[in-house]
Amino acid sequence: MPTIAENISLVEQKIKKTATFWGEDPEKAKLIAVSKKQPDEKVVEALEAGHRCFGENRVQEAAGKWPAFKEKYDGVELHLIGPLQSNKAKEAVSLFDVIQSVDRPKIARVLSEEMQKAGKNIPVFVQVNVGEEDQKSGVSLNEADAFIQTCREEYKLDVQGLMCIPPAGEQPAPFFALLKRIADRNQLPKLSMGMSSDYEIGVQFGADYIRVGTAVFGERAY
Ligand SMILES: *Cc1c(COP(=O)(O)O)cnc(C)c1O
Repeated sequence: MPTIAENISLVEQKIKKTATFWGEDPEKAKLIAVSKKQPDEKVVEALEAGHRCFGENRVQEAAGKWPAFKEKYDGVELHLIGPLQSNKAKEAVSLFDVIQSVDRPKIARVLSEEMQKAGKNIPVFVQVNVGEEDQKSGVSLNEADAFIQTCREEYKLDVQGLMCIPPAGEQPAPFFALLKRIADRNQLPKLSMGMSSDYEIGVQFGADYIRVGTAVFGERAY
């Protein structure tokens, strides 16, 4: 069994190789190690190996482990990549360094209020429901441009880019290309796309962040 440090280094090598092949900057795509539902020992292993960029998809779960890890390890950058409820916005603002799952006006408003109260302006990403799936979070394709504008102009959020999760079982490439197109026409510089099964394709299409859980930590405990 490879160690977590070896897994991280393997993913990072593949990022560089893919980026170089496609003429992208090999240093551009950053690995977010998705630590949801992983035991603390594994997270510590990644931290001890020097990794600092992590993702969690639930505020509650993250609140249980990250304050202590952040205390102990300098330079942690924690991304919220899962759905956010407005009653958790305050906690999310105090815990996370980047919020990638902004997808509706109510959450944009509440985040904006909580950030103002906390005297912060945390970078955010707008999540786009690229496959127009009923059950999935994310703003729909035909509302994306207007919603991005609302986040920026009405709520003064620091929108840095777009995030998506393409439909399971379909080729991700067209969805990544589409996300890039929406980002370009809204002058948004950053893209968060690609998971364990498709991060190399994310890199091919210019990802700034890939979000990888199982390929770093192994299968999650449910
Ligand atoms: C869990 C999760 C990931 C990581 O998924 P893996 O397939 O384990 O790499 C990435 N993005 C989001 C939004 C997730 O919830």
